[in-house]
Amino acid sequence: MTATETAAELPHGMRALRLHEWGVAPSLDRIPVPQPGPGQVLLRVDAAGLCHSDLHIMDADAGVLPYTLPFNLGHEVMGAVVAVGDDRDREWIGRSCGVHGVWSCGECRACAAGRDNYCVELNGPIGCGTGYDDGLADFILVPSTRHLVELDPAAGPEVAPMTDAGLTAYHAVVSQPVDLRGAIVVVVGIGGLGHLALQVLTLRLPSLVLAVDPRESARELALRLGAHHAVASVAEVDALAAELSGGSGADLVLDFVGAPDTMGGAPGLMAGGACLVVVGSAGGSLTVTKGGALPRGWRVEAPFWGPHHHLQDVLDLAVAGDLAAVVEQRRLDEVLEAYQDLREGRADGRLVVVP
Ligand code: NAD
Ligand code: ZN
Ligand code: ZN
Repeated sequence: MTATETAAELPHGMRALRLHEWGVAPSLDRIPVPQPGPGQVLLRVDAAGLCHSDLHIMDADAGVLPYTLPFNLGHEVMGAVVAVGDDRDREWIGRSCGVHGVWSCGECRACAAGRDNYCVELNGPIGCGTGYDDGLADFILVPSTRHLVELDPAAGPEVAPMTDAGLTAYHAVVSQPVDLRGAIVVVVGIGGLGHLALQVLTLRLPSLVLAVDPRESARELALRLGAHHAVASVAEVDALAAELSGGSGADLVLDFVGAPDTMGGAPGLMAGGACLVVVGSAGGSLTVTKGGALPRGWRVEAPFWGPHHHLQDVLDLAVAGDLAAVVEQRRLDEVLEAYQDLREGRADGRLVVVP
């Protein structure tokens, strides 16, 4: 064997969902299977989750995102290592892994502090499906084993969403500097991220969790996952939170939508010293001023994805049975219909493509 060590003979061509033009639907193309160069590893994709961010990426106007077209979409991947570019990574061949999609440098001050999701070197493309080729394909090339977390070989496709939906939701909750025991929490948007956030929250023993989603099936899911109440809009939760908190409001508002109505209504939900965590990116905005609509002692955060060590935590929780994504499986040749279902709110939990 030369520079590349392979587990078995690989095919020459593969299917990949590629974005060619901003604002135009991606297409399922046939492209060559990439070959791992020095330090790189090739994974056979076993499952890839569909995130609402993929829709924001596809819909973006030219010039908004610092990514060069075309690239393969998606960013929630698990798979098995089938080839490595370096002999020293040989022992990785055959391992089942989750891919940490923030392809950080590993050396800057943010990486050194365990804040690799804010790596100072990532100014353009971020990782797989966010400017680099991702796992809505038969194979994915990952720049280094540093971005892999080993999984139990028996892990099923429901583990793929842990790499983004699970990680982002976990990071948003556990980065809170206050103890959430006894807290009143509002979770807005019970989709891929929100339904996992509810499970992470429940482990931290808040006294009251109020879920918001216009879809009835999402509200039912929220109640099954530990929410005490589930309502259809921020306006409704406003009245309910005021009533149940004796007028004070919620201590934490997690917004997994980030739309004008959700961000606009959030300040009215918050108690003094409360935090608004905006994770969703649906075009909302908020004016942040002292003495404005936000309560005394407000905090506003917009966390991005999560660091590598939190991915390990999330996968440990999944193995322990404390965190489980509700998933619906689709085939790769059904991926465009699956995205349409996600866009139109026809899926609960996470849609996962199994190539
Ligand atoms: P999703 O489509 O699976 O879930 C969104 C949910 O919000 C759906 O259940 C939908 O019915 C509900 N919803 C829509 N409008 C609503 C409203 N006005 N009020 C209440 N609920 C509403 O999406 P997802 O994959 O969970 O992603 C959620 C958001 O988070 C997206 O904007 C996505 O881009 C963003 N995201 C951010 C990060 C990050 O690192 N910050 C990571 C992943 C996803
Ligand atoms: Zn995502
Ligand atoms: Zn870095």
